[in-house]
Amino acid sequence: MRADMAALGITLTRRVRVTLVDTIEHGAGSATLGLTHHIENTTDVLGIDVLGGLTGTHFGRVLAHEIGHAWLVQQGAPVRDLVLVEGTCELFAAAWLKKQRTPLATALRTAMATNQHPTYGTGYRLVRGAVAQHGIRAVLAELCATGVLP
Ligand SMILES: [Zn+2]
Repeated sequence: MRADMAALGITLTRRVRVTLVDTIEHGAGSATLGLTHHIENTTDVLGIDVLGGLTGTHFGRVLAHEIGHAWLVQQGAPVRDLVLVEGTCELFAAAWLKKQRTPLATALRTAMATNQHPTYGTGYRLVRGAVAQHGIRAVLAELCATGVLP
């Protein structure tokens, strides 16, 4: 997984422990499958929880998304807009799925692209559009420097 993400240009500066858990407590009440714990206003990532019992593809999709959160925190990226935060993490998940080349991975990627959720779906399409226009490196560099899309 680390190698997969590194191939996308995403490297965590410090290793993050991943824990499989039975339940994930989350305020939004949405079907949350993963959660990244970090200390507010620092670059400290305490760990990533992923719900146990997922298939390999679902697990990878969730972990790639959470690695996105951990990466943004470790980089100290000043992204305040939740739509951009979740959109960036969805982009990471989609990039990981794209490398899997299985029908399930393709179906999950299609579901992300057509997701009507105002944060996840809208955010993903927003960030994906910026990447199509400027390239992944420019988009991530801008998010890290200014917190907004180029
Ligand atoms: Zn997220």
